[in-house]
Amino acid sequence: MSKRAFNFCAGPAALPEAVLQRAQAELLDWQGKGLSVMEMSHRSDEYVAIAEKAEQDLRDLLAIPSNYKVLFLQGGASQQFAEIPLNLLPEDGVADYVETGIWSKKSLEEARRFGNINVAASAKAYDYFAIPGQNEWALSKNAAYLHYASNETIGGLQFDWVPEVGDVPLVVDMSSDILSRPLDVSRFGLIYAGAQKNIGPSGLVVVIVREDLLGRARSICPTMLNYKIAADNGSMYNTPATFSWYLSGLVFEWLKKQGGVEAMEKLNKAKKDLLYGYIDKSDFYTNPIATNARSWMNVPFRLADERLDKAFLEGADARGLLNLKGHRSVGGMRASIYNAVGLDAVEALVAFMTEFEKEQG
Ligand code: PMP
Repeated sequence: MSKRAFNFCAGPAALPEAVLQRAQAELLDWQGKGLSVMEMSHRSDEYVAIAEKAEQDLRDLLAIPSNYKVLFLQGGASQQFAEIPLNLLPEDGVADYVETGIWSKKSLEEARRFGNINVAASAKAYDYFAIPGQNEWALSKNAAYLHYASNETIGGLQFDWVPEVGDVPLVVDMSSDILSRPLDVSRFGLIYAGAQKNIGPSGLVVVIVREDLLGRARSICPTMLNYKIAADNGSMYNTPATFSWYLSGLVFEWLKKQGGVEAMEKLNKAKKDLLYGYIDKSDFYTNPIATNARSWMNVPFRLADERLDKAFLEGADARGLLNLKGHRSVGGMRASIYNAVGLDAVEALVAFMTEFEKEQG
């Protein structure tokens, strides 16, 4: 069987082995055409079919209503931090932002370059261990949109609810939890996600945007960052990240075969219950996040004594449990358990954690 390690990387993250095998089988000769997907014109019938199928599969997976455009863009989620205000925030307008960690902070700091930003709520008051309830938010009267991050990849803080903002378009960074469970797209004005966690390889960011929000870009908005131009050109105003888009399509096919986002929700719940359950039982490992805000995708945890961190990581590595080191800004450990990380990986991690605790605890 496979010699592949269990990869707990936060991103670029583990991809389903079946997807990689399929890509490998098709690498030199895609479906008898005698060339690789990487070598095809993005305007060729073959590639357009690949791109359209990927979009349709994503639409099926998330039941995306027909009045939403799906864009396959470049520049990562970080470029969206600027692209969103350039497209949606009028020069004299105000946008509301909810700050729950490093990524939502980065997005609002970038947005400040383009206009008036109101920080409607911040998890700082809770040391980033909990999400302020909506009754604590100070929303603007006429916000152009409200932005939040549904899952903070570094802090391990995730919304298990969708904000209620009436007619104000809800804009969400779902980079690290899209496709991990069912989602009511119609609640949102715009959803964006860097691909390299639950979608595919890096080089791609997926934007799902309600049609009435197109065509509002500022005059200074660069052509390449204008959603309407991207939408009108089928995300091919310029050469798209063709291979990343193709591989993401293979991931969508794989997801459908697994039973879609409903099946992922079940699997992801079992994984996070196992890991948090063990951490909570143990006196050696801790996770400080409020139970209802704990991320299903990124589980940060600390050892009782940080001097043991190095031995823990070395022991994990030796067992093929890779990339458990926490983000450099917070230290400790972090296990990212996206869709492609199976229950067997989490079982292997918990077995190792148990063994390490017995030895060192
Ligand atoms: N938002 C979130 C929630 C993320 O986790 C990341 C990347 N880890 C980003 C934004 C930035 O993504 P990118 O590197 O694609 O710009």
